[in-house]
Amino acid sequence: MARRNSRDAELRARAEAVIPGGMYGHQSARLLPDDYPQFFSRAKGTRLWDADGAELIDLMCAYGPNLMGYGDPQIDAAFVAQLAVGDTMTGPTGLIVELAEAMTAMVGHAAWAIFCKNGTDATTIALMTARAHTRRRTVVRAKGAYHGAAPWCNARSAGTIPEDKSHQILCDYNDVASLEEAVAKAGDDLAAVFAAPLKHDAFIDQEQPLAAYARRARELCDDTGALLIVDDVRAGLRIARDCSWSVVGVEPDLSTWGKCLANGHALSAVLGSEKARRAAAAIFTTGSFWFQAAPMAAALATIRRVRETNYLETMQTLGLQLREGLAERAAGHGLELRQTGPVTMPLFLFDEDPDMRKGFFFGAEMLKRGVYVHPWHNMFLNAAMTKSDIDLVLAAADASFAALATARPTLAPVEKMAFLAA
Ligand code: PMP
Repeated sequence: MARRNSRDAELRARAEAVIPGGMYGHQSARLLPDDYPQFFSRAKGTRLWDADGAELIDLMCAYGPNLMGYGDPQIDAAFVAQLAVGDTMTGPTGLIVELAEAMTAMVGHAAWAIFCKNGTDATTIALMTARAHTRRRTVVRAKGAYHGAAPWCNARSAGTIPEDKSHQILCDYNDVASLEEAVAKAGDDLAAVFAAPLKHDAFIDQEQPLAAYARRARELCDDTGALLIVDDVRAGLRIARDCSWSVVGVEPDLSTWGKCLANGHALSAVLGSEKARRAAAAIFTTGSFWFQAAPMAAALATIRRVRETNYLETMQTLGLQLREGLAERAAGHGLELRQTGPVTMPLFLFDEDPDMRKGFFFGAEMLKRGVYVHPWHNMFLNAAMTKSDIDLVLAAADASFAALATARPTLAPVEKMAFLAA
C-alpha cells in the first residue's frame, strides 16, 4: 500500500489495470513493507530516488547489478560511445571476442564464454551444455537454491508442469551425506551438480560454502563424468575476482554470471572449461539481443575496474564496518540481530521473528530515515560506497532499532507472509 496521494500510489493504481498483479516477480512491492515504494525515478552512485523524489541509500543495488555505483561515469561512457557507433546489428562486433578473452583470463577454470542477457539464460545454457556433454538427464541441486525463473527452476508451480522439473534431485546445501545420496540416486544418469556459491536463499540465514562440500561435489562429478556448475549470477565479483568457489579451492566445469557483469547493463555469461567446449558448441542457443555491443563495452570497462582497483577490498572493509556497527547497535537496544552471508552481501534477520513482523517494521523505519534495506533477501554493497554512507546507515539503524525496541509489544502481524509462502 503506497502513501496516499503520492505519485507511487497513482502509478500503482494505473499499473493494476495494465500490468498483471500490478507488478510481477521479485520486484513486486507487494512482498515488502507497506510503505516501500514500487516505483523509482532515478539512481546515481549509492543513491536511489523513488517516484516521489525521496532520496535513499540503496542497500539492494538493483538486486545485484550495481557493483561500482549507479551510472558510473567511465562505464557508462564506454556504453554510450559504443551505442553511438553500433549496438544491436546483424552480427556481433569484435568486443565479444575481447570480452571472452578478458573473462577467460580472469576466471581460473574458464577456456570459453557464451554471452546472453539474464541469469536465467546463463543457467539454462549451462544445464543444456551439461546434458549435451554427458548425454544424460539428471541434475542434482540444493533445495531452496534460486537459479532463475525458467520452468525447469521456477520457484512456483503456477504455469509449470511436473515434467518441467523432472530429472532433478534435490539435496541439502553443505551436507555431504545428502549430496552423496542424491548423486547415488542419480546412478548412471547424472549430468550435473548445480551448486550455488553459497547458500543465499531468501527468508533464511545465509551459509558460506564448506570446503568439504565443494570438494566432494568436485570429486563426485569427476568420478561420474558429470559436470560441476557454479551459479555465480548473484555472488560473482562480490566474493572473488574469479569464480566464487575459488575461495574454497574448487574449480567448476561451468560457471554462470550476470547481474553486475556490466554494472547494470544487460549482459550475462556462461564460462566453461576445455572439457565442455564441444558440448557448448553443439547446443543451439541464441537471442535477438545477446550480441549487443554496448553492454559488452560496459562489461569490459567493469572488468578493467575489477582488475585494476581494490573495489572488492573497499566493499569488504565497509561491509565489515556495517556488520560490526549493526551488531553493536542492535545489542545496545536489547535486540538479537542475525547477520549472515559474506559482508559484501549481507542479510539481516531478527531472532524470534517467525512472521518477520520485526524485520518488516525495521525496514519501514529505515526507509523513513532514507535507507532502503530488504527484510528477507540478501542485500549488496557497492564499491561507490564510502565510510560516511555506512555511518548514515548506522545512524538510521540506531534510531530504527530504538523504535523497534519500544514498539515491539504492539506490532501488527504481517499478513503478507501467507502470500509469500504460497
Ligand atoms: N541465479 C541466481 C543465483 C540468481 O540470484 C538469479 C537472480 N536473482 C538468477 C540465477 C537468475 O537471474 P535473472 O533474474 O537475471 O534471470
